[in-house]
Amino acid sequence: ERWLSGQMNGWVQLALSTPVVLGCGWPFFKRGWASIKNNALNMFTLIAIGTGAAFAYSTAAVFAPALFPQGFRMADGTVPVYFESAAVIILLVLLGQILELKARERTGSAIRALLDLAPETATRVRDGAEETVPLDEIAAGDILRVKAGGKVPVDGVISLGHSSVDESMLTGEPIPVEKSPDDEVTGGTLNTTGSFLMRAERVGAETMLARIVDMVASAQRSRAPAQQLADAVAGYFVPAVLAASLLAFIAWWAWGPDPALAYALVAAVSVLIIACPCALGLATPMSIMTATGCGAQAGVLYREASALEAFAQVDTLIVDKTGTLTQGKPVVGEIVCLGKHSENEVLGVAASLERGSEHPLARAILAYADKRNIETNVVEGFITHPGKGITGSVLGKDAAFGNEALMDATNIDISNITDQLSQLREGGNTVMMLAIADKLAGLIVVKDPVKGTARQALDKLRNQGLSVIMATGDDQRTAKAVAAELAIDEVHAGILPQDKAKLISSLQARGAKVAMAGDGINDAPALAQADVGIAMGTGADVAIESAGITLVKGDLNGIVRARKLSRAAMANIKQNLFFAFFYNAIGVPLAAGVLYPAFGLLLSPVFAAAAMSLSSVSVITNALRLRNVKL
Ligand code: ADP
Ligand code: MG
Repeated sequence: ERWLSGQMNGWVQLALSTPVVLGCGWPFFKRGWASIKNNALNMFTLIAIGTGAAFAYSTAAVFAPALFPQGFRMADGTVPVYFESAAVIILLVLLGQILELKARERTGSAIRALLDLAPETATRVRDGAEETVPLDEIAAGDILRVKAGGKVPVDGVISLGHSSVDESMLTGEPIPVEKSPDDEVTGGTLNTTGSFLMRAERVGAETMLARIVDMVASAQRSRAPAQQLADAVAGYFVPAVLAASLLAFIAWWAWGPDPALAYALVAAVSVLIIACPCALGLATPMSIMTATGCGAQAGVLYREASALEAFAQVDTLIVDKTGTLTQGKPVVGEIVCLGKHSENEVLGVAASLERGSEHPLARAILAYADKRNIETNVVEGFITHPGKGITGSVLGKDAAFGNEALMDATNIDISNITDQLSQLREGGNTVMMLAIADKLAGLIVVKDPVKGTARQALDKLRNQGLSVIMATGDDQRTAKAVAAELAIDEVHAGILPQDKAKLISSLQARGAKVAMAGDGINDAPALAQADVGIAMGTGADVAIESAGITLVKGDLNGIVRARKLSRAAMANIKQNLFFAFFYNAIGVPLAAGVLYPAFGLLLSPVFAAAAMSLSSVSVITNALRLRNVKL
């Protein structure tokens, strides 16, 4: 009835399984040995010991069956072998690793999709002729033609023509944006209708796209705090499993049916394999990679995994006004002359000072001066006073331009214009004061409309239970007017950058989890102090560096998206930890044979290996589900 004698059967199995176990399994044994040597037990410890024991025992049984005591022998006196178990386990673990690699590639596909946004060539216009050149030959200052339906190759400014550009790949906003000369365009976005000429400004690693890719890549590599918990658990888990496996062996040996030792070995190996925490190592990184990739495609960039985790728990949102709630593209509305100074003089001195500033207000003043063909002068001793304004000496006269705090700091009396000031600030205008040679010389009124999406985004966040607070360096009356428009109740106006940070730490001291959204250099301390800093991608670099999350186009709906994604990701990680951990924990007693006394059921090691792989597959599949979150 048997076509191979027991003895022969063993030799054949040995010959067939050796290449699999020792060949394919070699990396596992190496890593298992390393884990023991470095005293850092992990999944490979369990796999190596489990399959190693099964294979070594079976080999010995083939070479020297006579050496084995009665406890190992079947009723017919033969010693059973477990080559196939060892081989199948190795193959299943290998399969799990391949699946993992594939899934990692898929979670990383967001980066590839981003990289693919940039076209490979651009059309350069030189001396009236057009030539197609590879993207890396484009330099700042080159004039490029972008045809209808073509991609914008690098970051720059439109010099000729009109078009509407689809920027959804960077902002998540589906509606194309109208562009005319002097408007900025971003590399990787899609030109829809018209053709235009643009001047390249940022190329290569400088482009917004390159920086986004950088940020996503580093976020995907970063570790979430939740991961530390998983690692700590794994640290105790592996020794516990080794102990459980040993216990199972002893129990079967002592009380098991014949062949007790063979059963003992099977149970011990099964316990090692089923409890293998390979899914535990996947649980958090898989979700993090998927979520950060997803965010990048919706205009939400995470600097690190901890921001993703922290934002899910935030209950208070502090928002800056200028550039965050407002468009940050302010325009000069009115110039009021005081004393004997002319409008052109006031504007000229203010613009000269602003040449050294990066503030959104500076851009407004400079653009207006440019429009009126006002010349600017060299400034000596230029100083920026964050949250207050700027000072310097123009044409030999000390000048100061900014708010009340600046006038106060430079000892300039403004008591005779207080009524005028509050009148001008009605409706949310920002009013700046210019002093020349220690005397008030004029006022410049700047209008900065509120972002179109701000009200809707804040309403959504409030509906989710977040409390929204405004913190601004601008004047109380201006701030109140903007706050009223956005239904913000709590306003802290006229505060300095460090006060924004202090406001946050005092809220934190009361147990609040605080997110701060801002765009300026003046917001950097607060962005760093907050549990989560949210920078506007349109704002200052320092702000972006200090924040955990960046909204590419500064659209506040990005905060709503970020929150949704953070919550989904954290829920996903919890589910993953469940799959990774409890699966195995439940498997251990089954593998040890608790069902045997009642039902005569003992798990085969192969089944244990299949269950283990299944937990990895569940984790991976579940993590990839995050890609379906509607943002
Ligand atoms: P916000 O907190 O709303 O972003 P800031 O803290 O940047 O505003 O600025 C607060 C106020 O300080 C401004 O409203 C303005 O009056 C003054 N200020 C700051 N920087 C400048 C500047 N470069 N030029 C003129 N005024 C400035
Ligand atoms: Mg600001």
